[in-house]
Amino acid sequence: MTMATPALDKLAAAPEELLARLFTPMNVDGVYGRTGAYEDVVEGLGRYISTLRPKGAEVFRFPPVVSRTLIEKSGYLKSFPHLLGCVCALGTDVKRVTEAVARYEAGGSWTDSAQASELVLAPAACYPVYPIAAERGVIGAEPLMFDVASDCFRREPSKEIDRFQSFRMREFVAIGAPQQIQAFRDQWMARAPEIAADLGVTHAIDAASDPFFGREGQMVGRFQTANALKFEMLIPVRSTEKPTACMSFNCHRDHFGEVWGMKTADGELAHTACVAFGIDRLAVALFARHGVEVGGWPAPVRAKLGL
Ligand code: ATP
Ligand code: ZN
Ligand code: MG
Repeated sequence: MTMATPALDKLAAAPEELLARLFTPMNVDGVYGRTGAYEDVVEGLGRYISTLRPKGAEVFRFPPVVSRTLIEKSGYLKSFPHLLGCVCALGTDVKRVTEAVARYEAGGSWTDSAQASELVLAPAACYPVYPIAAERGVIGAEPLMFDVASDCFRREPSKEIDRFQSFRMREFVAIGAPQQIQAFRDQWMARAPEIAADLGVTHAIDAASDPFFGREGQMVGRFQTANALKFEMLIPVRSTEKPTACMSFNCHRDHFGEVWGMKTADGELAHTACVAFGIDRLAVALFARHGVEVGGWPAPVRAKLGL
């Protein structure tokens, strides 16, 4: 279901040009060093998104690693085991470390001796906020609001300019009664045209599903689409015909309420929703639309970004 598809403009820069001008390769697909000009835009986006921050939202910036048990408990392993990255280390056992290093020096692999640690790489910015909210006890009359961000990792190596293994995500999260959470999500979707106009890009809103793993997962994905739980804001990045999801608007229903025991005053399980800004995709979309030289961008867009 496509809800808004204005005529999609021509792009000012092709993917090859963007890759060459904005990034420096680091010999791993989907992992790049970023130029100063690119980071200026990332910072501008950060400032701009802060102007949209929901009233009263509490701010957290999370590190790129989170506890393994948190992600396990969140159900990530059931849904997206193929995307998760785990931090492994040799530890301090002298015999193991010595053997591993010797094996590497003899042309073998030291990682064969590494063991999983208690850390995984954060796959999205919002996971750590639910147990924090749960600690606060019963949710009052107003929904809890958060503004969170982190570097994220997903094991989806690609040479495409809009799919990284390491990328940044900013999210607004709401926790409360079902109708409040539905309203929060719907209000943010309704603001998509305003955001697109501020950034000077064309967009479409489309129903979506997450890339759940396996056959059982595909059924979950169909359930998600059928119940209109996930929508995406698509903006041209690689082409105008196949725009890229740069934001997502997600209802989790009572999933995190159940996992973390979050309740509203009437004793019902809390519902949650998150509005995710794919920072790196938005930044690349801006360069694709307006060109690699920020100086040539439309003045109103630069003003919105403080550039
Ligand atoms: P896609 O369908 O493109 O894989 P997704 O449904 O997995 O996206 P979400 O889980 O909703 O994405 O993540 C929120 C936002 O983070 C996305 O809308 C997108 O802008 C960004 N994002 C997700 N995966 C990547 C990636 N591999 N590289 C860059 N940005 C990403
Ligand atoms: Zn989220
Ligand atoms: Mg994905």
